Amino acid sequence: AEDAQYVASLIRTTPDFPKPGIHFRDFTPIMTDARALRLMLVALERTLPVPADQIDLVAGLEARGFLMGPALAAHLGKGFVPVRKAGKLPPETLKQSYALEYGTASIEIETEAVRDGQRVLIVDDLIATGGTAAAAAKLVELAGGKVAGFSFVMELQGLDGRAQLGDYPVTALTEMP
Ligand code: 5GP
Repeated sequence: AEDAQYVASLIRTTPDFPKPGIHFRDFTPIMTDARALRLMLVALERTLPVPADQIDLVAGLEARGFLMGPALAAHLGKGFVPVRKAGKLPPETLKQSYALEYGTASIEIETEAVRDGQRVLIVDDLIATGGTAAAAAKLVELAGGKVAGFSFVMELQGLDGRAQLGDYPVTALTEMP
């Protein structure tokens, strides 16, 4: 519990970034701190939504899921697949659009990155409305994989992001207002 508190205490909040009214939560200081980085990976491993032997691959969401995702994948002895913002990957890709507060966004995965039936843990630094994570789950399924569950470092309260993720198991290390 002390360790969890230490890790959470490093999360940096910047008011009015990237625009007025948004409290931007940044876990980068955890990544910078050798002890906290290790503790975060151990905590993510301990709170996995399914046992590690039921996971074949870790998928991380651009951009901060690219920071903690490969570290967690290596820690668990799994491979890593990036889920990128649209237009960054060479073909062949699968694409999924999702709603933002204003407008839509699209994310992509390489068609061949997930083999049929592979069980994929989807990870990101933070879940807010859950729209990005839900779109990533659709991509994993389009690619022929199965969604094992979701792991987040931070979960924003009051947005009910988990509701977007249906029956998939979800864990987050810390909840934030
Ligand atoms: P959602 O789709 O759940 O509404 O938003 C989650 C996505 O937006 C994630 O990829 C997450 O990294 C990013 N995001 C939303 N709010 C914040 C924030 O306060 N801090 C950080 N680091 N990312 C955020």
